[in-house]
Parts: sequence; structure tokens; C-alpha cells
Amino acid sequence: MASNGTRPFRVVIVGSGPSGFYAAEALLKDASVRVEVDMLDRLPVPYGLVRGGVAPDHQKIKGVIKVYEKTASYPRFRFYGNVKVGADLSVDDLRRLYDAVVLAVGAEGDHHMDIPGEGLPGSHAATEFVGWYNGHPDYHDRRFDLSCESVAVVGIGNVAMDVTRILASDPEELAKTDMADYAVEALRASRVKDIWLLGRRGPVQAAFSPAEITELGELSSADLVVRPEDVALDEASREDLARADASAKKNVEFLQKAAARGEGSRGRKVRLRFCVSPVELIGEGGRVGAARLERNALKRDAKGAVKARGTGEFETVKVGLVLRSVGYFGVPLPGVAFDTERGVFPNAGGRLLESAGGPVICGEYVVGWAKRGPSGLIGTNRACSTETAARILEDLKAGLAPGRGAAEAEAFLRSRKADLVSFADWKRLDALELSRGQAAGKIREKFTTVGSALEALKTARI
Ligand code: NAP
Repeated sequence: MASNGTRPFRVVIVGSGPSGFYAAEALLKDASVRVEVDMLDRLPVPYGLVRGGVAPDHQKIKGVIKVYEKTASYPRFRFYGNVKVGADLSVDDLRRLYDAVVLAVGAEGDHHMDIPGEGLPGSHAATEFVGWYNGHPDYHDRRFDLSCESVAVVGIGNVAMDVTRILASDPEELAKTDMADYAVEALRASRVKDIWLLGRRGPVQAAFSPAEITELGELSSADLVVRPEDVALDEASREDLARADASAKKNVEFLQKAAARGEGSRGRKVRLRFCVSPVELIGEGGRVGAARLERNALKRDAKGAVKARGTGEFETVKVGLVLRSVGYFGVPLPGVAFDTERGVFPNAGGRLLESAGGPVICGEYVVGWAKRGPSGLIGTNRACSTETAARILEDLKAGLAPGRGAAEAEAFLRSRKADLVSFADWKRLDALELSRGQAAGKIREKFTTVGSALEALKTARI
């Protein structure tokens, strides 16, 4: 088994979401190279979007945590939570301390619509709403005005499906999950009746998965309302559908059936509209009061892709809250080249580059959304991280410049951040959250601030 002279190779992974854990797994289980993995996270809790993104009514998806716990149980794995790279320490520090540095930082920013009125109070990124209901410390103090009767969700990807379903669901069902208690209370008081779900292109081009749209159509508390004229396909869409994968075909079939069902009789309506784009958010009393929508026609561009083009036909819908769900976007890290067009760290198969198309940087890597952009399901990250791990192992075997030992790295981390959180500490927090949840009749009651998590840990360690 290859190692770096007398000690194992030392790899640091920045970020503890799925891509980070899949990279750790691939590195630790390789029998040909002896690798130790230190994983850092800015939060005192691990699992990235599995904890802070996956919807609380999708507990089955969170079952992947079992796989990550198995990885964390390798003696050659250490977790250091509550330490922020770029603030508590730099990427340069990591370069000195480790043989290889892997960025698994995801895509923490989001796209904008770039329309007038987007900055009005009452207009938010859907990702903020997701972080809020999931008890993410960055978002626990956000407020969303649910006293209005009408909400617009812009974009029709799976994040849009999640936020729409949460707005439309019976809060008593959500109360049993791990949703933050303050969010359950706010949803209980919600007066929202209509949720406008706005897609700029047609049913064939929709980004949602069949399972997600089907779930929206099966809610006990809301009807999914689709207009027959919206699911009548134009020529470009018919051509696309003929070539489309099974998912697009299932979506169209489902939507055409939903359109035939009409308004339904439930108290809430999810009004799914295709081929419309908000072109302005209109203020009323200093906050969002309405959205002006333009009807789109679908046109094929020079590369053959079907694009939405405004027709000059407008309508206005009254809405008191707008959640834009038009995609995540990567955030740069000081001291690392960043592709501002694509929102990713430029790389070749996971090896970081000095610039897009430039030379490889020795010993530095990237995985997940930070590598390929915000696409795919959780499992997509496994192949992505395995590819990068293979490059890391090749490079380590070829003999990279040595980093420092484990004790030295830990001493440095502690010198920068006194209250580091280990994986054993996380398991203490995990047990506390589960027992708080049990007492409240739900799956889990999360700590939704860093301070409350660290405070609880102090007592739990005694
Ligand atoms: P996404 O799948 O890329 O969807 C983005 C949506 O925003 C698309 O409908 C897109 O329309 C639309 N859009 C982009 N720019 C727009 C604009 N300026 N105006 C109007 N609409 C615009 O992104 P996502 O929903 O954020 O999800 C990210 C990834 O996480 C996806 O791979 C998703 O499947 C995954 N995810 C999965 C689940 C799950 O499995 N339950 C849950 C959440 C997220 P166009 O198609 O026209 O560009």
C-alpha cells in the first residue's frame, strides 16, 4: 500500500455535504493508498443540503446519512465542524498542512431574475425559504409574509416543487417531521390560498422530476390546477417530446391528465402555468403587491435548443410573496480561481485549474456542485466524487509534496478555532435533537443557531 514515507497521505475535504462524503468514502476505501481524511465544515453540524436542503417531508431521502456515518466511522476520518475556510483559516493554510485539498463547498448562492422590483420586500430566493424551514443557522431569523392570499414561485425545478409543496401542505403533517418549530408555527398561521407556479418554457422542457410533480398532484390540502391550453404542445415541443427521455414523457402524460381534472374542491390551489415569465414585480405599500407576467412563445435557437421568447402579451397577478427558484450559483473562495460565468471552480475531471482551460494546480481538487454546477440528485454526486478521488489517488501515488502530520493539522485548526466540533460531538448533538423531537412528538428538533448548538454541546460533553 502506498503512503508518504512513514505516514499516510493527508487529505482535507472542505464541506461535509454528499459530494464531500462520497469523496471521503472513495479515498478511505481504496486499498492501494493509505489516506487520512480531515473534513471541515463551517457549521457545527454535518451533511450540507441533506440536512439544510432536503425537504422535511422527504425523510426517506435523508436515509443516505447512514452511508455517510459509515464513512465517518473509519479511524482514518476526522470531522472538524464550526471552522470556516476563508475566515478562520485560509486555503493557503490548508495547502501547507495537507497533501491534497478538496473543495466540496457546493453552490451557496443563487441566480436572480434581473427584473425591476426584484429587490422589494416580499421577494426572496427560494433557497432562503428552504434554509428557513429546515432550521439552517444562516436563515433561522428570516421572515416570510404568509398573511397574503397569493404567492408566486418562479421556476419549475425540484426546488420549486419543494417550496410549493411546503406552502400547500397541511402543517399538521409537517409538524411531525424535522421542520424547524418556528416554521411549523408560521405555516399554521398561513393565509395563502393560491400558489402560482411559473415556468418560462413548456411541459416538455420542465425541470421537475415525475415523482415530484406527481406528489404535488396528490396533496390532501391542495389541488394542482393546470390549464388545458398550457399543455397543448407546439411544434417545437412535439419534436422535443419525440426525442425526450422517459421523465419528460411521464411529466407530459401526468400534466395532460391533471389538466382534464379542472379546479378541484380543496381549499388551496397550486396554479401551474407554462410559458410565462415575470417581467416586473410591482410594489404596493412598500412591498411586493403583484407580478407582471409576459406570455412566451417557444423558439429553437441556432444550437437547436428550445428557448422562451416574450410575445408582448402581458397579464398581472396579485401576489404578496415571490420566491424565485431559478437555480443555485457557486460562491468564490478567497485564493482560488473561480469561473464567474458558470459559478464553478475551473477544473479538469476534478483537478483544479489556474483558470478555465489553464494549467492544473498540483494537489488541489473539487467535487460536487462546486465542480459541475448545481445539477443532479444526491446520488449524482457519488460518480462525480469518485472521478475526482481517482485523480487524487493517481496524483498521490505519483508523489506529491508532503504536507504535515495529523497532530500538527489539528493543533493548527484548534489555534484558529477553539470550539471545534468533532464527529463524536456531532453524534451528541444528533442524540439531543432526536430526544428533543421525541418530546415534541416529531422526528427531530434541530438546533437552529450555531450558539445554541455549541451551548448544548458544552453541557453534553460534561
Ligand atoms: P433546476 O432544476 O436547474 O431548475 C431551475 C428552474 O428555474 C428551471 O425551471 C429553469 O427554467 C428556471 N429558470 C432559470 N432561470 C429563469 C429565469 N430567469 N426566469 C424564469 N425561470 C428561470 O434547479 P433547482 O430546482 O434549483 O434544483 C437544483 C438541483 O437540485 C436539480 O438537479 C434538482 O433536481 C435537484 N433537487 C432535487 C430534489 C429532489 O429530488 N426532491 C429537490 C431539490 C433539488 P429553464 O428550464 O427554462 O431554464
